[in-house]
Amino acid sequence: MTLWCQNIVFGKSHVQSQLQQGSIDIDTTTGIIVNCHPGELWSEVQYRNPNDSMNLGDTILSPGMIDVHTHISALGRTWEGYETATKAAAAGGITTIMGMPLNSIPSTTTLEAVELEKEQAGKESLYVDVGLWGGVVPNNLSGLHSLLQSPYIFGIKAFLAPLPPAAGYEAVTPEQLLMAARICGPMGKPILVHSELMTLEESTSAVENAFAGHEDSSYVAHLNSRPAVWEQDAVRIVCKATRPDPTNPSVRCRMHIVHLSDAKGCLPIIQECRKGLSSPDDLIVETCPHYLLLDDSQIEDGDTRVKCFPPIRDFENREFLWRGLDEGWIDMVASDHSPCETDMRLMESRNMKNAWGGLSGLQYQLQATWTDAYERGFSPIDMTRWWSENPAKLIGLSSKKGRIGVGFHADLCWWDPKHIGPPNEYSKEYHRWKGTTIYADNPSLRGRVLGTWVKGTHVYDGTTDVHIEPAGRLLTC
Ligand SMILES: [Zn+2]
Repeated sequence: MTLWCQNIVFGKSHVQSQLQQGSIDIDTTTGIIVNCHPGELWSEVQYRNPNDSMNLGDTILSPGMIDVHTHISALGRTWEGYETATKAAAAGGITTIMGMPLNSIPSTTTLEAVELEKEQAGKESLYVDVGLWGGVVPNNLSGLHSLLQSPYIFGIKAFLAPLPPAAGYEAVTPEQLLMAARICGPMGKPILVHSELMTLEESTSAVENAFAGHEDSSYVAHLNSRPAVWEQDAVRIVCKATRPDPTNPSVRCRMHIVHLSDAKGCLPIIQECRKGLSSPDDLIVETCPHYLLLDDSQIEDGDTRVKCFPPIRDFENREFLWRGLDEGWIDMVASDHSPCETDMRLMESRNMKNAWGGLSGLQYQLQATWTDAYERGFSPIDMTRWWSENPAKLIGLSSKKGRIGVGFHADLCWWDPKHIGPPNEYSKEYHRWKGTTIYADNPSLRGRVLGTWVKGTHVYDGTTDVHIEPAGRLLTC
């Protein structure tokens, strides 16, 4: 099969990707890209492969997006599940999702739980590829080595911030994080850290203090309840964990900061740390579209759909996040799709103080990122770096995924960069709990997914809003 497009983000090893008209040939048996023809005209494709070619027109063909941070919550809860998560991902141009240990019960902190996740994934239809992160908690450090030996576990997630008891997951101490880094480093797998540092008592009293004198709907109270210094303190701990093990100096652990919000305070710490690293890849930084698209000036009191930890901060900080992406201090963007049952969001009572946190919106990440990226002069090549190339590197699959090149999986996202309008005008919402995302009816969002392929199989047709074939697999590393 040959796909021709006016603008293909061709990947090139060692030098930057380029945007060019041309075509790619896909072996549909193996799902691999077997030839790239940058510069080729559609008329030449028609001559070369008249019976099995498709003209995608004046649009963009990019590598499929890889979302390294999703909560699939398939076990023990009814918050999302593999089928709805992967359908939403496919409709959003995402071809691989990485599932976090939270909020499944049990979460993937033991080999037994990994088996249960595998079983569950096997029972449901997967429309895109899925990989699993394990988790480190205080009581599994002794079993961490064997957990990391599982070919299904790409790395582990750690929390420095305590979670509410209902989450069913425990934070580690800074010392435990360092111990985990010593175990992970030699195995070549990264640790992903929720980087806010405080105790449960501190976080509880900060909420009470911040909301004193404010309505329960107050966004500024929520923002004040999660001070930026907590992020900075945690980032310092993560930076410390990148240092080599004194007993084994050749080994470092790759550390990944998830969902950075406080760019203003944290980026100088990150820059200083990276200077001392032999490889910049030992400290990896992710942010999310909601921090890039929104700041506190746009958030209405009581809009609990945007409550998250760390919180969405002010306009100036948002500018620092974009600068961090531009200069390469922030490597990638991920959704942190955090589904839960609609009732838990307290949307009717508009109770910011007590609503469950985390944004839902896996399906709309392309638009949520591209809208502001376009305004700021970024290109689809930048989108590819943030959403495909660097995420592929993090999960250790950069020789197979994340680029359009010979030998790579034909994981593809076909999209219209010019379309402006609410996504619910052209596609249904595929998340399990609908109506809780800020994106679906936003009229100013830019970009529209027209088609998604996973290893050469057309999994979603965005021109008709139809899912075609559940061709996703559970990935091994
Ligand atoms: Zn998360």
